[in-house]
Amino acid sequence: MTFTSSFALRYARLAGRGAYVYKAPRGTTDILPAEQGYYRHVEATAARLCQRYGYERIDTPVFEDARLFVRTIGEGTDIVEKETYTFDDRSGQAMTLRPEGTAPICRAYVEHGMHNLPQPVRLFYLASIFRYERPQKGRYRQHQQFGAEAIGDGDPALDAEVIDLAWRFCAAVGLTGIAIQLNSIGCKVCRPAYLAELQKHYSAHVDVLCPDCRVRLQKNPLRLLDCKKPSCQDIAESAPRSSEHLCPECGGHFDGVREYLRVLGIAFEENHRLVRGLDYYTKTVFEIQPRGREGAQSAVGGGGRYDDLIQELGGKPTPAVGFAIGIERVVLGVKQQGMAPLASPGEKVFVASLGDEAKAEAVRLTAELRRAGVIAIPSLGNRSLKAQLRQANALGAAHALIMGDDEVRAGRVVLRHMDRGEQESVPVQDVVGMLRSPDVRFEQ
Ligand code: AMP
Repeated sequence: MTFTSSFALRYARLAGRGAYVYKAPRGTTDILPAEQGYYRHVEATAARLCQRYGYERIDTPVFEDARLFVRTIGEGTDIVEKETYTFDDRSGQAMTLRPEGTAPICRAYVEHGMHNLPQPVRLFYLASIFRYERPQKGRYRQHQQFGAEAIGDGDPALDAEVIDLAWRFCAAVGLTGIAIQLNSIGCKVCRPAYLAELQKHYSAHVDVLCPDCRVRLQKNPLRLLDCKKPSCQDIAESAPRSSEHLCPECGGHFDGVREYLRVLGIAFEENHRLVRGLDYYTKTVFEIQPRGREGAQSAVGGGGRYDDLIQELGGKPTPAVGFAIGIERVVLGVKQQGMAPLASPGEKVFVASLGDEAKAEAVRLTAELRRAGVIAIPSLGNRSLKAQLRQANALGAAHALIMGDDEVRAGRVVLRHMDRGEQESVPVQDVVGMLRSPDVRFEQ
């Protein structure tokens, strides 16, 4: 994407070419009002839980300097090599639409001197993420993530806290049939020797490796372990395990994480093939996977420790740990389990009118109802009463207020209870108070 004038011209010409059926870009979805209840439920649960755990919300820009992601996620990763939406802005600066949430937050931590705050700094986000992936169910080019980051402490109790938060969130939104997979991939002290072991193991089987794994063997050996191709499975299963090649510091840390998870009553399965797709992880990595589909690229969420990332971005050495959960996948999951969306926030009132004077009064009364916190929808145009009541029904209004010019002159309005079809004339000055109460009573 380059916003040069030729780019603008090309698209201006395309746009001018008559009838074209516009669709949401491939891999993106519209979240229509009928779906919003699920998303609000998920977001409200995330915000409520985070508050309880002491995590505060942070929002970072949708796009960042492209170098931020190349530097942190890693040049040899799928995300940076194939999936980013990168474009030159009008001043020629390379920008990337956020392909993950952690690097921007670490950038913000350094930029705003958050090391001066009490550590660890606990942050959470709800953000759109952009990756040019092959779209399929649960895999989109724009999706939303709920994530949390605890920056500034290396205590394994903090890893357990973050895993606990992710797990309790899944439980609180009502997701079942999931399990935590856990691994430790060591640090810059112990990983080089482990990677050498891994390369040695794989080098003995080069002839049967898939073409991608042959590249990984040279460029990113850790990723060999999560290859999904059948031909590579046996080799990955018999590969040396990172958790058995940890230095004393990482080994002790991993013991600590497992111990604190037991204290918290959180069940987990160790998975020596879990490595995660980004370069910045150290020590703990974890994923929350649907049971029975482990390793099928169907994770609900995942995360881990990234003790070198803040320093990589110019900050002081600062250990940190976090996770991200895909909101669309959570919504898909709870829907498959048959959960109903959150109900709409209250009953609707439809304001119908007949005649010019009544229409003006209906406009005024609608505004008054709205100011009083009532969901009020006015009738528009000049339709018959029957047509207006049909619309009130179609909108699912609990009540309709009906006024003609006579009612306006008498200072009254007809209150109709849509369910029962009963109606009653009430003084207009009383109607707001009546509708404000959850239980609308008819005048005696
Ligand atoms: P990742 O940073 O790749 O581990 O992503 C964290 C979570 O975001 C995953 O576990 C998924 O739930 C979700 N996710 C990642 N990529 C996509 C995508 N392309 N479409 C929908 N959800 C995704």
